[in-house]
Amino acid sequence: MATKAKPKMKLKKGDHVQVIQGKDIGKRGEVAHVFPERNKVIVESSEGGGINVAKKHQKPTRATMQGGIQDKTMPIHVSNLMLVCGKDGPVKVGYRIDPNGEKHRVCRKCGAEL
Ligand SMILES: [Zn+2]
Repeated sequence: MATKAKPKMKLKKGDHVQVIQGKDIGKRGEVAHVFPERNKVIVESSEGGGINVAKKHQKPTRATMQGGIQDKTMPIHVSNLMLVCGKDGPVKVGYRIDPNGEKHRVCRKCGAEL
């Protein structure tokens, strides 16, 4: 059985990640949504404030009579993120196949399951 093919999506909902590129570099958060077909995820910051937030200008509506700026959390590409191991911090992800043939994500440093 060939196992060389890379998994399509490394991250899943609830993962703890750190931003390693871009304007939010160093921020940590939790994956709130995944978009596997685009390799993007939405990350909610654990320190408050969103990650990869875009300011969205809104036109005044008849109902409110005023416009404004709204924060909108945008999906971030998985290559800008690293999975966080509870022991080591941001780490590279490895894979281990157990005797049942099931694949487990592991920390490449300490080997802990992630
Ligand atoms: Zn580790």
